[in-house]
Amino acid sequence: MPQDQRFSRLVMAAEPRPFWLDRPDAPPAREPLRGEAAADLVVIGGGFTGLWTALLARESDPERSVVLAEGNRIGWAASGRNGGFCEASLTHGAANGRDRFPAEFDTLQRLGAENLDAIEAALGRHGIACDFERTGSVSVATEEYQVAGLREAAESGGTAFLDADAMRAEVNSPTYLAGVWDKGGTALVHPARLAWGLAAACERLGVRIVERTPATGLAGDADGVTVRTRNGVLRADRVALGTSAFPSLLRRVRPYTVPVYDYVLVTEPLSPAQLAEVGWRNRQGIGDSGNQFHYYRLTPDNRILWGGYDAIYHFGRGIRLAYDQRPATFAVLADHFFATFPQLEGIGFSHRWGGVIDTCSRFCAFFGTAHSGRVGYALGYTGLGVGASRFGARVMLDLLGGERTELTGLKMVRSKPIPFPPEPLAYLGVQATRWSLARADRRSGRRNLWLRALDAAGLGFDS
Ligand SMILES: Cc1cc2nc3c(=O)[nH]c(=O)nc-3n(C[C@H](O)[C@H](O)[C@H](O)COP(=O)(O)OP(=O)(O)OC[C@H]3O[C@@H](n4cnc5c(N)ncnc54)[C@H](O)[C@@H]3O)c2cc1C
Repeated sequence: MPQDQRFSRLVMAAEPRPFWLDRPDAPPAREPLRGEAAADLVVIGGGFTGLWTALLARESDPERSVVLAEGNRIGWAASGRNGGFCEASLTHGAANGRDRFPAEFDTLQRLGAENLDAIEAALGRHGIACDFERTGSVSVATEEYQVAGLREAAESGGTAFLDADAMRAEVNSPTYLAGVWDKGGTALVHPARLAWGLAAACERLGVRIVERTPATGLAGDADGVTVRTRNGVLRADRVALGTSAFPSLLRRVRPYTVPVYDYVLVTEPLSPAQLAEVGWRNRQGIGDSGNQFHYYRLTPDNRILWGGYDAIYHFGRGIRLAYDQRPATFAVLADHFFATFPQLEGIGFSHRWGGVIDTCSRFCAFFGTAHSGRVGYALGYTGLGVGASRFGARVMLDLLGGERTELTGLKMVRSKPIPFPPEPLAYLGVQATRWSLARADRRSGRRNLWLRALDAAGLGFDS
């Protein structure tokens, strides 16, 4: 059988759902909102951004009443279906942060490190079991031209450079030419257990959570904000929006993001013999260094989660359940998986899925308020929000508090990304960028005119 047909068969045998959410101990659905309710703070969205916002709001002011409304189920979207790389970086990597916010880069790095420590502390304080492993992460070079970049990154970031032998001694792949191991900057988590655990912690602190309660609109007046939901109305003094890639309740925010789909495979658990072939005793998260990069890691039960590479945008900012499955991308991912780990020939995949990412043109979160400071939002994490969403929640709460704080004074908080143009320009722009990035990967990283123009306009993607 031809190789591509073999990969197609292999991936189509996998369950078409996120591995993380596919658990017998998934919590039962909470009741939707019917009728009216009021709270000091209403949070819309039950992903990490909304959950951290609700938790931190109650922690800082136990008198404040908080209702969180989720349109579907807690953690069903990006927060429960990601790679589980919980990174300290708030800026989608050091290079992006240094380029965009040079004057406050050190501050952002410090805040990011504090944020990761605070996540770990909160998990302990609230007894949230989510397989948090502070393994660090390794960027690997799989092409000769990437090695020098990694060496430079290791020097400027104070991280450990591994040559090909040292890298393969950590994780055994014939494709590795070098690696940089950032030991402190990343933890791995079980993202669905984190989302469920945060929701349970919120409820223990007195937050009311309603699921299957999509908010359909909001209006502000002198006394507060009214949020209409499918079967009810929420009245609030302040509203925090953590709605990510989904259409914002604030129309003016919509042009700043496009929904981009990212895809993941998970293997069957590795046998002890298979694991011994790969090594990976330190269980680091791994990412390769191309523009179209893979990210991968061991799950708590020693499967390999293998994601990334393709980034798919649908004309008109399309978001549909059907887009969570993309057989062509799964087959490509399987091909690349076996090229990386040929010794695992014969292993099957247990799960395949996709999810939507709130991509913005600066590749890290942005923030703002509307309705005279009563409505706040945080979004635009561009695929790196597992850790940064807690920072986003803190920023939103500070903005809604109306006082100047260290966070609200940051340029990163006060500035916005460049918005995307309307269709068909958005679609054409995204496709041209994807095509050019793939081409650069094939040509030793050399960027064409289009990418150089984007770089010059401050829109370049170098992650
Ligand atoms: C496949 C994949 C892999 C990823 N891997 C990583 C990774 O390894 N590391 C990392 O840092 N990041 C990763 N990310 C990104 C990360 O998952 C997100 O940045 C993060 O989860 C965003 O959290 P959020 O709460 O802002 O958004 P979401 O988790 O998307 O939550 C938004 C919620 O808002 C709800 N909502 C939207 N509109 C409404 C409305 N009108 N009314 C009520 N509810 C509404 C939605 O139903 C949803 O539950 C990945 C993402 C994907 C898709």
